[in-house]
Amino acid sequence: MFLSNHAAVGALLTVHTDNPASAFVLGYFSHYLLDMIPHGDEKVGTWMKEKHTNLRSAGVLMADLSITAIFFLSLSWKIDFPHPYVVAAGVFGAMLPDFLYGFYDLIRKYLSPEKKKHYREKGGWLIKLAKRTLWDNFLLERHFYIHRKIHFALGYNISFPRGMIFQAVLLGFLYWSTLNYLSV
Ligand SMILES: [Zn+2]
Repeated sequence: MFLSNHAAVGALLTVHTDNPASAFVLGYFSHYLLDMIPHGDEKVGTWMKEKHTNLRSAGVLMADLSITAIFFLSLSWKIDFPHPYVVAAGVFGAMLPDFLYGFYDLIRKYLSPEKKKHYREKGGWLIKLAKRTLWDNFLLERHFYIHRKIHFALGYNISFPRGMIFQAVLLGFLYWSTLNYLSV
């Protein structure tokens, strides 16, 4: 699912809270639920991987973030957000899983094939966990696979054109909802 839709859901969920930490957590978990809905953009990932991966990924990311920026700028001209920092925390939480996913996808080709050797080193579980986290990106790796597993949990895909229409309609609906429910 595109970041714009995740961000919009993260913002809308802040109607339930004025606490930035809760907004962040609500936004964060909404990401995985939203990703489970078939949304037809898997082809974009395949296209990015074919060639010029970094350039294509940067292009898609810029386009996605631009739509997100236009979404919130145009909203901010129409309404006053009751708690802008809470909205920002919700939006950030809702986008974070894809940032973690993308970041790991970007760096994993540079990771050392020697990584498993740390598991055999001395030290208690805390030391080992710290080493694995810092040097082997253990947590990022786990998150990468969990995110992907959740994404394909329902095992039902829709075509790219349908997915684009669905995501555009969803974004429109989220715009309308935010306009109506999130203003002061
Ligand atoms: Zn995602």
